[in-house]
Amino acid sequence: MTGTFADKAAPPIGVFGGTFDPIHFGHLRLAEEMADALGLERILFIPAGQPPHRAAPGTAAAHRLAMVRRALAGNPRFEADAREVARPQPSYTVDTLAALRAELGAARPLWLLLGADAFLGLPGWHDWRKLFELANIAVATRAGAQAVQLGAIMEPLKDEMSQRVAADVRSASAPAGSILLREMTPLDISATAIRDLLARHGSARYLLPDAVLDYIHELHLYSSQ
Ligand code: ATP
Repeated sequence: MTGTFADKAAPPIGVFGGTFDPIHFGHLRLAEEMADALGLERILFIPAGQPPHRAAPGTAAAHRLAMVRRALAGNPRFEADAREVARPQPSYTVDTLAALRAELGAARPLWLLLGADAFLGLPGWHDWRKLFELANIAVATRAGAQAVQLGAIMEPLKDEMSQRVAADVRSASAPAGSILLREMTPLDISATAIRDLLARHGSARYLLPDAVLDYIHELHLYSSQ
């Protein structure tokens, strides 16, 4: 590690990727709780351009980014980052993290924030083991339930977990390489359910910020008419 003392003292940064189609309170609450738990100076919300590991989102990237910007307005710790949306080709998380690592230096702790469902799918991601060289991973789990459903964890991920799971935040102070499981307030909200509600002209109020809902209505997103 070549970082100076000043680099080492630099507070950690969070990275939260998703399709955000649309962004909702499940995402925002996860980020808020992780910011507090990990002492994050800021969290970069990075909407996916064309995610390689799942079907392309139905909503144009520009709209998804605009909704993220509206949702984050007024929170000084939250920042929208358009780097994946701006690229014409698909972005891999590992490439995004490598770019951030180059910008922020080797000593700055980076935390990739994931919901438990996304974490379980990690072995399907491009070059996924390299993620641990670039960042720590914080997984938001459900209170009351087993941290992450052990039976659902694929062998290679189990192996990484056996070496990397940290008991608490203090023992995960390195710039990269740890996995931390954190219970978050369970909010059973999904973008899919919101899209379905809106397609049926139901109310999605209180599932996502009003500013995002206003944008959806102004632009007639998610309704078939
Ligand atoms: P979709 O329903 O379209 O699959 P989604 O609501 O799951 O979307 P994504 O943009 O795919 O949202 O998710 C981005 C990240 O947020 C993922 O890591 C996912 O696990 C996490 N996440 C999504 N919804 C919640 C929630 N309600 N509570 C905690 N984490 C969530």
